[in-house]
Amino acid sequence: MQKIKLFTPGPTMVPPEVTVAMAEPFDHHRTQAHRKILQNVTRKLQYVFQTKADCLVITGSGTAAMEAGIVGVGSPSSKALVVCGGKFSERWAKVCHNFGIKLIAHELEWGYGATAETVAGHLGRDKSIDTVIITHSETSTAAVSDVEAIAKITREHDCLLVVDGITSVGAIPVKMDEWGIDVLVCSSQKALMTPPGLGVIAVNERAWKRIQSFSPPAYYLRLQSYVEALQSNDSPYTPAITLVKGLNQALSMIEDEGIENIWRRTRRLAEATRAAMQAINLEVFAKHPVDSLTAIVLPESIDEPTFRRNLRERFGYVVAGGQGHLKGRIFRVNHMGYVDESDTLGLIGAIELLLHEMGHKFHLGNGPKAAISVLSRTA
Ligand SMILES: *Cc1c(COP(=O)(O)O)cnc(C)c1O
Repeated sequence: MQKIKLFTPGPTMVPPEVTVAMAEPFDHHRTQAHRKILQNVTRKLQYVFQTKADCLVITGSGTAAMEAGIVGVGSPSSKALVVCGGKFSERWAKVCHNFGIKLIAHELEWGYGATAETVAGHLGRDKSIDTVIITHSETSTAAVSDVEAIAKITREHDCLLVVDGITSVGAIPVKMDEWGIDVLVCSSQKALMTPPGLGVIAVNERAWKRIQSFSPPAYYLRLQSYVEALQSNDSPYTPAITLVKGLNQALSMIEDEGIENIWRRTRRLAEATRAAMQAINLEVFAKHPVDSLTAIVLPESIDEPTFRRNLRERFGYVVAGGQGHLKGRIFRVNHMGYVDESDTLGLIGAIELLLHEMGHKFHLGNGPKAAISVLSRTA
């Protein structure tokens, strides 16, 4: 028997209620019944994104939605600043490059998030920058960027702010309208508790002006088509009907729990995990750690593939390895979505037992003890 507990920071665990909603027989998408579902999904997404802007659902993973946003605002005269501190932010620089969008890629040391100072420095020096692209939660390093402060700077300079919120929306505080984010992107398989396959993009009035001012090199990912279809609660092309139904159910569960409660739960799980790892002599990788997931440095003496294989085969816990130059050095565990205190305590216990058996030195029992003390203090 193998009971798989998916602790990767995407895809994340899917609640049985969502699986059941997806297993129901489905209707054609050009029907009142499906339009009603899409209308509900859109309304609930606005709550999760904390916006009044249209939330457009695209069939495709998160990268598709980000590409739609970048290409949509990247006019021939645009110049983008991309702050790169990991695998995902580097991807957005590559998208700009491939579409011929002028760009400045600001390299951060991995483990740090983008700050307002960094962005303000560039915008002060180079008046031709009109777009800033930030990865809020950089999933490859588990570092967080200060999007709220950065949004103040982009407003002052009349720049558009495009945010990859793929592992922040629905996990940590993100307030699109209040903060002034112009384009915000998320996808189904992270905090939204739905299997992979849907991207979501919200675009405010400021960004629409740019988007409508030129014709982007896109067809399937042309945002105007999605907005026009949404006027009649429709999608321009055949949507992934089952996933939309699953997302509808997941969003109801998010609404029932309340977004502030979810932010709080995610933070507690992250704090408990960080305390537990430090208590067993492991280092948290990020210098600006995000609460959506945690990246942990493995000691030199522990073989990373063996560690993750044992964690999976012996205990059923699936965690992610490192990406890029962090491959073999770190492992990453999820706190987003359908994960609770007891799931997390179980994982911490399994990590501790395994590392003890693999010869790592620490005081046995310190990990769960530190986690429990955080959970009881913040209950
Ligand atoms: C998962 C993720 C993505 C999107 O990846 P897809 O595989 O295209 O869904 C983008 N950015 C971040 C920060 C992510 O965590």
